[in-house]
Amino acid sequence: MVIVGGGVLGTMHAVMARRRGFSVVHLEREPEARGASVRNFGLVWVSGRRAGPELALALRARELWEEIAASAPGTGFRPAGSLTLATREAELRVLGEAAELPDAKQRDFELLDPDGVRAVNPALRGEFLGGLYCRADAIVEPRVALPALRSMLASTGLANTALAGPGYEWLPGREAVEVVAHGVRDQRGRWYRGDLVVLCTGANFTGVAGPHLAATVHHLRRVRLQMMQTAPFPESLTTSVADGDSLRYYPAYDVPSLALLGPQTPVAAASRAQLLLVQRADGGLTIGDTHSYDEPFAFDVDEEPYDHLRARAEALLGRPLPRVLRRWAGVYSEVTGTSDLYHRSVVAPGVVLVTGPGGRGMTCSPAIAEETFLP
Ligand SMILES: Cc1cc2nc3c(=O)[nH]c(=O)nc-3n(C[C@H](O)[C@H](O)[C@H](O)COP(=O)(O)OP(=O)(O)OC[C@H]3O[C@@H](n4cnc5c(N)ncnc54)[C@H](O)[C@@H]3O)c2cc1C
Repeated sequence: MVIVGGGVLGTMHAVMARRRGFSVVHLEREPEARGASVRNFGLVWVSGRRAGPELALALRARELWEEIAASAPGTGFRPAGSLTLATREAELRVLGEAAELPDAKQRDFELLDPDGVRAVNPALRGEFLGGLYCRADAIVEPRVALPALRSMLASTGLANTALAGPGYEWLPGREAVEVVAHGVRDQRGRWYRGDLVVLCTGANFTGVAGPHLAATVHHLRRVRLQMMQTAPFPESLTTSVADGDSLRYYPAYDVPSLALLGPQTPVAAASRAQLLLVQRADGGLTIGDTHSYDEPFAFDVDEEPYDHLRARAEALLGRPLPRVLRRWAGVYSEVTGTSDLYHRSVVAPGVVLVTGPGGRGMTCSPAIAEETFLP
Protein backbone atom coordinates (compact mmCIF):
# COMPACT_ATOMS: atom_id res chain seq x y z
CA MET A 1 0.00 0.00 0.00
CA VAL A 2 1.09 3.56 -0.64
CA ILE A 3 -0.07 6.21 1.83
CA VAL A 4 0.37 9.93 1.12
CA GLY A 5 0.31 12.25 4.15
CA GLY A 6 1.99 11.75 7.50
CA GLY A 7 -0.81 13.22 9.65
CA VAL A 8 -2.98 11.13 11.93
CA LEU A 9 -5.27 9.97 9.11
CA GLY A 10 -2.37 8.73 7.00
CA THR A 11 -0.65 7.17 9.98
CA MET A 12 -3.80 5.37 11.16
CA HIS A 13 -4.27 4.06 7.62
CA ALA A 14 -0.75 2.66 7.88
CA VAL A 15 -1.65 0.98 11.18
CA MET A 16 -4.82 -0.55 9.74
CA ALA A 17 -3.03 -1.63 6.57
CA ARG A 18 -0.33 -3.41 8.58
CA ARG A 19 -2.98 -5.11 10.69
CA ARG A 20 -4.39 -6.53 7.46
CA GLY A 21 -1.01 -7.75 6.29
CA PHE A 22 -0.22 -5.10 3.67
CA SER A 23 3.29 -3.74 3.44
CA VAL A 24 3.23 0.04 3.50
CA VAL A 25 5.20 2.87 1.93
CA HIS A 26 4.32 6.15 3.65
CA LEU A 27 5.12 9.50 2.00
CA GLU A 28 5.12 12.90 3.74
CA ARG A 29 6.16 16.08 1.96
CA GLU A 30 7.65 17.72 5.08
CA PRO A 31 10.60 16.38 7.11
CA GLU A 32 7.99 15.66 9.84
CA ALA A 33 4.20 16.03 9.93
CA ARG A 34 3.35 19.66 10.64
CA GLY A 35 -0.39 19.81 9.90
CA ALA A 36 -3.51 19.70 12.07
CA SER A 37 -2.51 16.41 13.69
CA VAL A 38 0.38 17.92 15.64
CA ARG A 39 -1.41 21.20 16.40
CA ASN A 40 -4.48 19.84 18.16
CA PHE A 41 -5.45 19.19 21.79
CA GLY A 42 -5.05 15.45 21.53
CA LEU A 43 -8.60 15.05 22.74
CA VAL A 44 -10.20 11.72 21.97
CA TRP A 45 -13.57 13.35 22.41
CA VAL A 46 -16.66 11.19 22.66
CA SER A 47 -18.71 13.55 24.84
CA GLY A 48 -19.60 16.13 22.19
CA ARG A 49 -20.41 13.82 19.28
CA ARG A 50 -23.83 13.88 17.63
CA ALA A 51 -26.10 10.98 18.57
CA GLY A 52 -26.16 8.22 15.96
CA PRO A 53 -23.40 7.43 13.42
CA GLU A 54 -21.04 10.16 14.68
CA LEU A 55 -21.13 8.82 18.23
CA ALA A 56 -20.76 5.26 16.96
CA LEU A 57 -17.67 6.24 14.92
CA ALA A 58 -16.13 8.02 17.91
CA LEU A 59 -16.83 5.12 20.27
CA ARG A 60 -15.26 2.65 17.85
CA ALA A 61 -12.28 4.99 17.47
CA ARG A 62 -11.92 5.34 21.25
CA GLU A 63 -11.77 1.56 21.52
CA LEU A 64 -9.18 1.36 18.72
CA TRP A 65 -7.03 4.16 20.20
CA GLU A 66 -6.80 2.26 23.48
CA GLU A 67 -5.97 -0.97 21.70
CA ILE A 68 -3.32 0.61 19.43
CA ALA A 69 -1.79 2.62 22.28
CA ALA A 70 -1.17 -0.61 24.17
CA SER A 71 1.44 -1.37 21.45
CA ALA A 72 2.53 2.30 21.24
CA PRO A 73 2.64 3.74 24.77
CA GLY A 74 4.52 6.76 23.40
CA THR A 75 1.19 8.07 22.08
CA GLY A 76 0.50 9.11 25.68
CA PHE A 77 -3.03 7.69 25.56
CA ARG A 78 -4.78 8.05 28.91
CA PRO A 79 -8.45 7.39 29.67
CA ALA A 80 -8.68 10.57 31.72
CA GLY A 81 -12.30 11.54 31.02
CA SER A 82 -13.48 15.13 30.75
CA LEU A 83 -15.47 17.68 32.73
CA THR A 84 -17.65 20.22 30.92
CA LEU A 85 -18.33 22.96 33.47
CA ALA A 86 -21.34 25.26 33.79
CA THR A 87 -20.93 28.74 35.24
CA ARG A 88 -24.52 29.81 34.50
CA GLU A 89 -27.88 28.19 35.29
CA ALA A 90 -28.73 28.05 31.59
CA GLU A 91 -25.58 25.99 30.92
CA LEU A 92 -26.32 23.68 33.82
CA ARG A 93 -29.79 23.00 32.37
CA VAL A 94 -28.24 21.98 29.03
CA LEU A 95 -25.81 19.64 30.80
CA GLY A 96 -28.69 18.20 32.86
CA GLU A 97 -30.70 17.46 29.71
CA ALA A 98 -27.68 15.91 27.98
CA ALA A 99 -27.14 13.66 31.00
CA GLU A 100 -30.70 12.34 30.56
CA LEU A 101 -30.45 11.50 26.85
CA PRO A 102 -30.80 7.83 25.85
CA ASP A 103 -27.15 7.62 24.77
CA ALA A 104 -25.75 9.21 27.96
CA LYS A 105 -24.78 5.73 29.18
CA GLN A 106 -22.67 5.08 26.07
CA ARG A 107 -20.78 8.32 26.74
CA ASP A 108 -20.55 7.42 30.44
CA PHE A 109 -22.01 10.81 31.44
CA GLU A 110 -22.63 11.84 35.03
CA LEU A 111 -23.91 15.24 36.15
CA LEU A 112 -21.95 16.47 39.17
CA ASP A 113 -22.42 19.31 41.66
CA PRO A 114 -19.39 21.52 42.46
CA ASP A 115 -18.20 19.19 45.24
CA GLY A 116 -18.56 16.22 42.92
CA VAL A 117 -16.52 18.04 40.27
CA ARG A 118 -13.75 18.77 42.77
CA ALA A 119 -13.78 15.18 43.99
CA VAL A 120 -13.02 14.07 40.40
CA ASN A 121 -10.58 16.89 39.60
CA PRO A 122 -9.30 18.64 42.75
CA ALA A 123 -7.28 21.17 40.70
CA LEU A 124 -10.56 22.91 39.76
CA ARG A 125 -10.77 25.44 42.59
CA GLY A 126 -12.65 28.19 40.80
CA GLU A 127 -16.30 29.16 40.51
CA PHE A 128 -18.80 26.88 38.74
CA LEU A 129 -22.29 25.53 39.33
CA GLY A 130 -21.60 21.95 38.30
CA GLY A 131 -20.18 19.83 35.54
CA LEU A 132 -20.84 16.94 33.21
CA TYR A 133 -18.31 14.17 33.73
CA CYS A 134 -17.67 12.06 30.63
CA ARG A 135 -15.63 9.00 31.50
CA ALA A 136 -15.40 7.94 27.83
CA ASP A 137 -13.19 10.87 26.81
CA ALA A 138 -9.44 10.33 26.58
CA ILE A 139 -6.21 12.20 25.82
CA VAL A 140 -3.21 11.53 23.56
CA GLU A 141 -0.06 13.61 23.06
CA PRO A 142 -0.23 15.16 19.59
CA ARG A 143 3.40 16.30 19.49
CA VAL A 144 4.72 12.77 19.95
CA ALA A 145 1.88 10.41 18.99
CA LEU A 146 2.75 10.16 15.29
CA PRO A 147 6.44 9.26 15.75
CA ALA A 148 5.35 6.78 18.44
CA LEU A 149 2.93 5.11 16.04
CA ARG A 150 5.58 5.04 13.33
CA SER A 151 8.16 3.42 15.56
CA MET A 152 5.56 0.77 16.46
CA LEU A 153 4.98 0.24 12.73
CA ALA A 154 8.70 0.01 12.04
CA SER A 155 9.22 -2.56 14.79
CA THR A 156 8.33 -6.20 14.38
CA GLY A 157 6.19 -6.17 17.50
CA LEU A 158 2.96 -4.80 16.05
CA ALA A 159 -0.01 -6.57 17.55
CA ASN A 160 -2.39 -8.35 15.14
CA THR A 161 -0.01 -8.09 12.21
CA ALA A 162 -0.22 -10.88 9.72
CA LEU A 163 3.26 -10.17 8.35
CA ALA A 164 6.50 -10.98 10.07
CA GLY A 165 9.20 -8.31 9.67
CA PRO A 166 8.79 -4.56 9.52
CA GLY A 167 6.98 -4.05 6.19
CA TYR A 168 6.73 -0.33 6.84
CA GLU A 169 8.76 2.39 5.14
CA TRP A 170 8.48 6.05 6.22
CA LEU A 171 9.62 8.47 3.52
CA PRO A 172 9.58 12.10 4.70
CA GLY A 173 10.47 14.91 2.30
CA ARG A 174 8.57 13.23 -0.56
CA GLU A 175 5.65 15.11 -2.03
CA ALA A 176 3.21 13.24 -4.24
CA VAL A 177 2.82 15.37 -7.36
CA GLU A 178 1.06 13.02 -9.78
CA VAL A 179 -1.57 10.33 -9.35
CA VAL A 180 -2.30 7.46 -11.73
CA ALA A 181 -4.17 4.16 -11.27
CA HIS A 182 -2.57 2.36 -8.31
CA GLY A 183 0.35 4.77 -8.15
CA VAL A 184 1.83 8.17 -7.33
CA ARG A 185 4.98 9.98 -8.41
CA ASP A 186 7.00 12.17 -6.04
CA GLN A 187 8.76 15.47 -6.80
CA ARG A 188 11.99 13.60 -7.58
CA GLY A 189 10.28 11.53 -10.28
CA ARG A 190 10.18 8.26 -8.36
CA TRP A 191 7.04 6.15 -8.75
CA TYR A 192 5.36 4.23 -5.91
CA ARG A 193 2.78 1.61 -6.84
CA GLY A 194 0.47 -0.49 -4.69
CA ASP A 195 -2.70 -2.53 -4.53
CA LEU A 196 -4.15 0.58 -2.94
CA VAL A 197 -3.01 4.21 -2.72
CA VAL A 198 -4.59 6.35 0.02
CA LEU A 199 -4.26 10.14 -0.16
CA CYS A 200 -4.57 11.71 3.32
CA THR A 201 -3.41 15.18 2.38
CA GLY A 202 -5.33 17.08 5.07
CA ALA A 203 -6.56 20.63 4.55
CA ASN A 204 -4.65 21.10 1.29
CA PHE A 205 -7.22 21.82 -1.37
CA THR A 206 -4.59 22.22 -4.11
CA GLY A 207 -1.88 19.76 -5.21
CA VAL A 208 -2.72 16.13 -5.99
CA ALA A 209 -6.04 16.26 -4.15
CA GLY A 210 -7.01 19.60 -5.70
CA PRO A 211 -8.64 18.48 -8.95
CA HIS A 212 -10.71 15.85 -7.13
CA LEU A 213 -11.77 18.14 -4.31
CA ALA A 214 -12.70 20.86 -6.81
CA ALA A 215 -15.65 18.72 -7.83
CA THR A 216 -16.83 18.32 -4.23
CA VAL A 217 -15.60 21.54 -2.68
CA HIS A 218 -19.15 22.73 -2.05
CA HIS A 219 -19.26 20.46 0.97
CA LEU A 220 -15.68 20.83 2.19
CA ARG A 221 -14.37 23.89 3.98
CA ARG A 222 -11.30 24.85 5.96
CA VAL A 223 -11.39 26.06 9.56
CA ARG A 224 -8.59 27.92 11.36
CA LEU A 225 -8.15 27.69 15.14
CA GLN A 226 -5.88 29.48 17.63
CA MET A 227 -4.16 27.62 20.47
CA MET A 228 -1.62 28.20 23.24
CA GLN A 229 0.43 26.20 25.70
CA THR A 230 1.64 27.18 29.15
CA ALA A 231 4.65 26.25 31.26
CA PRO A 232 3.99 23.30 33.60
CA PHE A 233 1.00 23.81 35.91
CA PRO A 234 2.02 22.96 39.48
CA GLU A 235 -0.82 20.50 40.05
CA SER A 236 -2.18 17.47 38.23
CA LEU A 237 -5.40 17.94 36.24
CA THR A 238 -7.03 14.54 36.34
CA THR A 239 -9.42 15.25 33.42
CA SER A 240 -9.57 17.52 30.42
CA VAL A 241 -11.88 20.52 30.90
CA ALA A 242 -14.38 22.39 28.71
CA ASP A 243 -16.43 25.49 29.46
CA GLY A 244 -20.09 26.26 28.81
CA ASP A 245 -19.30 27.86 25.44
CA SER A 246 -18.39 24.39 24.14
CA LEU A 247 -22.09 23.47 24.38
CA ARG A 248 -22.67 25.72 21.36
CA TYR A 249 -20.14 23.91 19.19
CA TYR A 250 -20.70 20.23 19.97
CA PRO A 251 -23.84 18.66 18.51
CA ALA A 252 -24.32 16.30 21.48
CA TYR A 253 -25.79 19.29 23.32
CA ASP A 254 -28.50 19.98 20.79
CA VAL A 255 -31.20 19.72 23.49
CA PRO A 256 -34.27 21.96 23.95
CA SER A 257 -32.68 24.23 26.58
CA LEU A 258 -29.74 25.03 24.25
CA ALA A 259 -31.87 27.77 22.68
CA LEU A 260 -32.02 29.51 26.09
CA LEU A 261 -28.24 29.88 26.49
CA GLY A 262 -28.24 33.48 25.28
CA PRO A 263 -25.37 35.12 23.42
CA GLN A 264 -21.66 34.58 24.09
CA THR A 265 -19.56 37.50 25.31
CA PRO A 266 -18.67 39.79 22.36
CA VAL A 267 -15.02 38.63 22.19
CA ALA A 268 -16.00 34.96 22.37
CA ALA A 269 -18.74 35.48 19.79
CA ALA A 270 -16.43 37.36 17.39
CA SER A 271 -13.76 34.65 17.51
CA ARG A 272 -16.24 31.77 18.00
CA ALA A 273 -14.29 30.74 21.08
CA GLN A 274 -14.82 27.87 23.47
CA LEU A 275 -12.49 26.90 26.27
CA LEU A 276 -10.88 23.48 26.04
CA LEU A 277 -8.03 22.75 28.40
CA VAL A 278 -5.80 19.67 28.50
CA GLN A 279 -2.78 18.99 30.63
CA ARG A 280 0.19 17.68 28.68
CA ALA A 281 2.43 14.89 29.86
CA ASP A 282 5.04 17.51 30.92
CA GLY A 283 2.46 19.36 33.05
CA GLY A 284 1.89 22.27 30.64
CA LEU A 285 -1.67 23.21 29.68
CA THR A 286 -2.85 23.25 26.08
CA ILE A 287 -5.61 25.86 25.85
CA GLY A 288 -7.88 26.87 22.98
CA ASP A 289 -9.73 27.49 20.80
CA THR A 290 -11.29 29.82 18.24
CA HIS A 291 -12.91 29.12 14.87
CA SER A 292 -12.57 31.14 11.70
CA TYR A 293 -14.07 30.13 8.38
CA ASP A 294 -13.40 33.11 6.13
CA GLU A 295 -10.42 32.89 3.82
CA PRO A 296 -7.84 34.23 3.33
CA PHE A 297 -6.99 33.26 6.90
CA ALA A 298 -4.90 35.56 9.06
CA PHE A 299 -1.20 34.71 8.94
CA ASP A 300 -0.75 35.99 12.49
CA VAL A 301 -2.51 35.20 15.77
CA ASP A 302 -4.95 37.57 17.41
CA GLU A 303 -4.38 38.40 21.10
CA GLU A 304 -7.97 39.26 22.13
CA PRO A 305 -9.36 35.72 22.17
CA TYR A 306 -6.27 34.59 24.08
CA ASP A 307 -7.10 37.13 26.82
CA HIS A 308 -10.64 35.76 26.93
CA LEU A 309 -9.52 32.10 27.10
CA ARG A 310 -6.93 32.87 29.75
CA ALA A 311 -9.58 34.60 31.92
CA ARG A 312 -11.99 31.67 31.50
CA ALA A 313 -9.33 29.11 32.39
CA GLU A 314 -8.21 31.10 35.43
CA ALA A 315 -11.82 31.47 36.63
CA LEU A 316 -12.34 27.68 36.53
CA LEU A 317 -8.94 26.82 38.01
CA GLY A 318 -9.28 29.54 40.66
CA ARG A 319 -5.73 30.82 40.18
CA PRO A 320 -3.48 32.42 37.57
CA LEU A 321 -2.20 30.37 34.68
CA PRO A 322 1.53 29.74 34.32
CA ARG A 323 3.33 31.76 31.66
CA VAL A 324 2.30 31.04 28.09
CA LEU A 325 5.25 29.44 26.29
CA ARG A 326 3.79 28.87 22.82
CA ARG A 327 0.99 30.11 20.59
CA TRP A 328 0.04 28.72 17.23
CA ALA A 329 -2.80 28.33 14.77
CA GLY A 330 -3.92 25.25 12.91
CA VAL A 331 -6.24 24.50 10.01
CA TYR A 332 -8.39 21.46 9.47
CA SER A 333 -10.72 20.49 6.64
CA GLU A 334 -14.33 19.71 7.36
CA VAL A 335 -17.29 18.33 5.44
CA THR A 336 -20.35 20.57 5.71
CA GLY A 337 -23.96 20.51 4.56
CA THR A 338 -24.04 16.72 4.42
CA SER A 339 -24.63 13.89 6.85
CA ASP A 340 -21.21 12.44 5.89
CA LEU A 341 -18.75 12.47 8.77
CA TYR A 342 -15.75 12.87 6.45
CA HIS A 343 -14.90 12.75 2.75
CA ARG A 344 -13.82 9.56 0.99
CA SER A 345 -13.76 9.23 -2.79
CA VAL A 346 -12.12 6.97 -5.35
CA VAL A 347 -10.09 9.36 -7.52
CA ALA A 348 -8.56 6.75 -9.85
CA PRO A 349 -8.61 2.95 -9.95
CA GLY A 350 -6.93 1.83 -6.73
CA VAL A 351 -6.57 5.39 -5.40
CA VAL A 352 -8.71 6.71 -2.52
CA LEU A 353 -8.77 10.23 -1.08
CA VAL A 354 -9.73 10.60 2.60
CA THR A 355 -10.05 14.00 4.29
CA GLY A 356 -12.51 16.38 5.96
CA PRO A 357 -13.08 14.86 9.43
CA GLY A 358 -13.12 18.38 10.88
CA GLY A 359 -12.61 18.89 14.60
CA ARG A 360 -13.08 15.17 15.25
CA GLY A 361 -10.16 13.90 13.14
CA MET A 362 -7.75 13.10 15.97
CA THR A 363 -10.54 11.24 17.73
CA CYS A 364 -12.00 9.33 14.80
CA SER A 365 -8.90 8.62 12.68
CA PRO A 366 -8.47 4.93 13.61
CA ALA A 367 -12.14 4.18 12.89
CA ILE A 368 -12.07 6.20 9.64
CA ALA A 369 -9.00 4.24 8.54
CA GLU A 370 -10.71 0.99 9.44
CA GLU A 371 -13.69 1.94 7.25
CA THR A 372 -11.39 2.42 4.24
CA PHE A 373 -10.76 -1.33 4.32
CA LEU A 374 -14.41 -2.36 4.63
CA PRO A 375 -15.63 -4.26 1.56
C1 LIG B 1 -5.99 23.53 16.51
C2 LIG B 1 -6.70 22.25 16.27
C3 LIG B 1 -7.22 21.53 17.35
C4 LIG B 1 -7.87 20.31 17.13
N1 LIG B 1 -8.23 19.54 18.20
C5 LIG B 1 -8.69 18.28 17.98
C6 LIG B 1 -8.89 17.40 19.08
O1 LIG B 1 -8.52 17.69 20.22
N2 LIG B 1 -9.49 16.21 18.84
C7 LIG B 1 -9.85 15.81 17.57
O2 LIG B 1 -10.43 14.75 17.42
N3 LIG B 1 -9.54 16.59 16.50
C8 LIG B 1 -8.98 17.79 16.67
N4 LIG B 1 -8.67 18.58 15.60
C9 LIG B 1 -8.88 18.06 14.25
C10 LIG B 1 -7.75 17.11 13.84
O3 LIG B 1 -6.50 17.62 14.25
C11 LIG B 1 -7.78 16.91 12.31
O4 LIG B 1 -9.06 16.51 11.88
C12 LIG B 1 -6.78 15.82 11.90
O5 LIG B 1 -5.53 16.07 12.47
C13 LIG B 1 -6.67 15.74 10.39
O6 LIG B 1 -5.66 14.80 10.09
P1 LIG B 1 -5.06 14.66 8.63
O7 LIG B 1 -4.07 13.57 8.70
O8 LIG B 1 -6.19 14.57 7.64
O9 LIG B 1 -4.39 16.09 8.32
P2 LIG B 1 -2.95 16.69 8.67
O10 LIG B 1 -2.54 16.41 10.05
O11 LIG B 1 -3.00 18.12 8.25
O12 LIG B 1 -1.97 15.87 7.74
C14 LIG B 1 -1.90 15.99 6.34
C15 LIG B 1 -0.46 15.69 5.95
O13 LIG B 1 -0.37 15.49 4.56
C16 LIG B 1 0.84 16.06 4.10
N5 LIG B 1 0.69 16.25 2.65
C17 LIG B 1 -0.19 17.06 2.03
N6 LIG B 1 -0.06 16.95 0.69
C18 LIG B 1 0.93 16.05 0.47
C19 LIG B 1 1.51 15.51 -0.71
N7 LIG B 1 1.09 15.86 -1.93
N8 LIG B 1 2.51 14.60 -0.57
C20 LIG B 1 2.96 14.22 0.64
N9 LIG B 1 2.43 14.71 1.80
C21 LIG B 1 1.42 15.60 1.71
C22 LIG B 1 0.95 17.33 4.91
O14 LIG B 1 2.27 17.85 4.93
C23 LIG B 1 0.46 16.87 6.28
O15 LIG B 1 1.51 16.40 7.10
C24 LIG B 1 -8.04 19.83 15.80
C25 LIG B 1 -7.52 20.55 14.72
C26 LIG B 1 -6.85 21.75 14.95
C27 LIG B 1 -6.30 22.50 13.78
